[in-house]
Amino acid sequence: MYCRVIVDIVHENVAKPFTYLIPEGMTLCSGQRVAVPFGAREKEGIVAEITAECDVAPEKLRTVIRPLEDYAAVPPELMALAQEMAQQAHCPVAETLRLMLPAQMRGGRIREKTVRTAQIAVSGPEAYAAMEASRPGSKRAKLLELLLPGKPVSVHELGETVRDPGEALRKLEGDGLIRLYEAETMRTPGGAFRATGDPGYELTPEQQEALEEILPCLHGKGGKFLLHGVTGSGKTEVFMKAVHEMLALGKCAIILVPEIALTPQMVSWFRGRFGAVAAVIHSRLSAGERYDEWRRIRRGEARVVIGARSAVFSPVEKLGLIVVDEEHESTYLNDRHPRYDTRDVAASRCERENATLILASATPSILSFARARRGDYILLEMLHRVNDRPLPEVEIVDMRQELEHNNRTVLSYALRQALQECVAKGEQAILLMNRRGYNSFVSCRSCGYVVKCPNCDISMTYHIGDNDGKLRCHYCGKEMIPPALCPECGGRHIRFFGAGTQKVEEEVHKMLPGVPTARMDYDTTGTKDGHGKILEEFRSGRARILIGTQMIAKGLDFPQVTLVGVVAADLALNLPDYRSRERAFQLFTQVAGRAGRGTQPGRVILQTYLPKDPVIGFAARQDYRAFFESEFRRRRNGLYPPFTILARLLIESDREENAEKTAEALEIKVREMLDAHPAWQKKTLILLRDTPSVKYLKSKFRRHLVMKSLVSKETDEMYGALTELAAAGSEGAEIIFEVNPATMM
Ligand code: ADP
Ligand code: ZN
Repeated sequence: MYCRVIVDIVHENVAKPFTYLIPEGMTLCSGQRVAVPFGAREKEGIVAEITAECDVAPEKLRTVIRPLEDYAAVPPELMALAQEMAQQAHCPVAETLRLMLPAQMRGGRIREKTVRTAQIAVSGPEAYAAMEASRPGSKRAKLLELLLPGKPVSVHELGETVRDPGEALRKLEGDGLIRLYEAETMRTPGGAFRATGDPGYELTPEQQEALEEILPCLHGKGGKFLLHGVTGSGKTEVFMKAVHEMLALGKCAIILVPEIALTPQMVSWFRGRFGAVAAVIHSRLSAGERYDEWRRIRRGEARVVIGARSAVFSPVEKLGLIVVDEEHESTYLNDRHPRYDTRDVAASRCERENATLILASATPSILSFARARRGDYILLEMLHRVNDRPLPEVEIVDMRQELEHNNRTVLSYALRQALQECVAKGEQAILLMNRRGYNSFVSCRSCGYVVKCPNCDISMTYHIGDNDGKLRCHYCGKEMIPPALCPECGGRHIRFFGAGTQKVEEEVHKMLPGVPTARMDYDTTGTKDGHGKILEEFRSGRARILIGTQMIAKGLDFPQVTLVGVVAADLALNLPDYRSRERAFQLFTQVAGRAGRGTQPGRVILQTYLPKDPVIGFAARQDYRAFFESEFRRRRNGLYPPFTILARLLIESDREENAEKTAEALEIKVREMLDAHPAWQKKTLILLRDTPSVKYLKSKFRRHLVMKSLVSKETDEMYGALTELAAAGSEGAEIIFEVNPATMM
């Protein structure tokens, strides 16, 4: 027999599988990893197919060296998924197959952890007789007694009862009474899970209705849902009940969260309710722990997987359900090659494996809601909070009027008063400031010069430190001491403008001395478990006010929070990106949703210089539908995604003229290509050469060729050609082809 092997090399010339002979006595199956000869070297590969036909000349045929495991590391459904993804991303299957395995598994870098174990090797009566025949109280007798039940016991454990059992064990082995061997063990991260047997809540009528729509699909051939539930409507409880149903049916579930570090609550709920059948995969696991969790899943010991986007590739068998929680989050788009949209991958998996997909959010992405309206997903809506808790009241504060009333600080009178009241009542508050640091830019009052990062061409942010302050580039991390004199005009009027989280924290301290606060941003969460510590400080009540960037808006459930302040709403609105309005609405709604989740009602204050902006209005009324309609129209009229696809050829070089020359030449080639293919030309709306807003990053000069195209078969063909064009490369510059995968296909 022969097999076709996808060799683990990512190169266009190696895109196809290679045929190898399976030697006499070796059995292999599709999806199994093997070592094969490749050129002069040994390489790893994955069996794509077993076949009786040989398509290689006999003198060229080579033989499989050995299987790497005795099971298929990639089950058939995931093999099919990898093939499909490779086709869509225009890349070799070897590349998408890498997504299906823990990185540590490749290159034989992983060692399974084993422990020396002893087990009786003879029948019960024989072992009993041998024990009776030994000297009473001897090590031999005690060991036999411990092993008599027949179960394997680790030598370490035996050593706890019988001191230094080594020699006695070897004698027993020599006498053929026991077997000594290395047994595999599993590293379970965070200790063994224990189920609390928590039965969960009794569902509210809205939750019940949603679940009843889902249940028939769980029992049948699956289905696709978009669960739109306002913040605090209890979406988690709905899908936990669905998971429970899955387990009862002997099936598996995958729960995807935007970032595991930000969802400790969800993890603890799942562990609490489902115990050891729940596996949690996150980036902080050690290589060994990751591999062990993966094997627990592969063997069917773990049947509920919770993780970030890569967990969508978990090798669960009998998949019944995939949940994508907070489906609007951009972390679900993998922006590294091979690019994919986790929601689409999940949908494809569910379809192939007859499983059910639930996308859940309080602020669904424009794309997903549009698809639901078109009928791709069944829309489930939960428009009330549990226990009839009201949604928080949102007030808009016009910061222009604050200026007129001589308030030049970052906190309005209304927000100051609300903070004071909140703290006086012993409640907690959250302040969102979507920029870290102290001042956002440093500029010369006389000539207007702005201090910019010499690498990145963006303005530098002032951070106060323990003893002194520094300017820092938020793109590349470069630091420098702020200039005392203007480097441009030599004047002494260098001033600091704009505010960040540090400044807000300082204002709060000035206003409420002695009230403990916590700050959560990129600067305070860098250390291991930085997030967890800050959240714990706030949860325990040690900190009364939490100040942070958008990190604080995500999925947190703090019942003591009654006040949320959005310090500078305009920051999120003014970004030059077609998605900025969508992101701003999501951010405001999510952060407002943190207020009033306990018994006390919540209050939200939104500070803005643009009080008339419709997005501010939609967010204040928490009217998702109205926001969706307006944004959907804007996107359709402006031909933005999801109605079109954005793609780009990115050119990078160490030398500016190389980047420029390559971009120019590439543009000519692309235009020629379009002229030669009128069908592609027709679908391409815009093609322009441009310098990205960040001129150069980490000493790389960049240019890009941006194109906007209609969603069509022809466009997809054209992308295939562009991928080849990029792969062909250019002298002195690197070319990368990227497609934004979030489209209405
Ligand atoms: P969402 O994700 O929709 O914002 P959560 O799932 O976080 O909402 O639920 C909000 C809060 O309500 C949580 O504290 C949760 O424990 C609680 N909760 C959920 N369902 C119920 C229920 N049926 N009865 C009482 N409390 C519930
Ligand atoms: Zn920089």
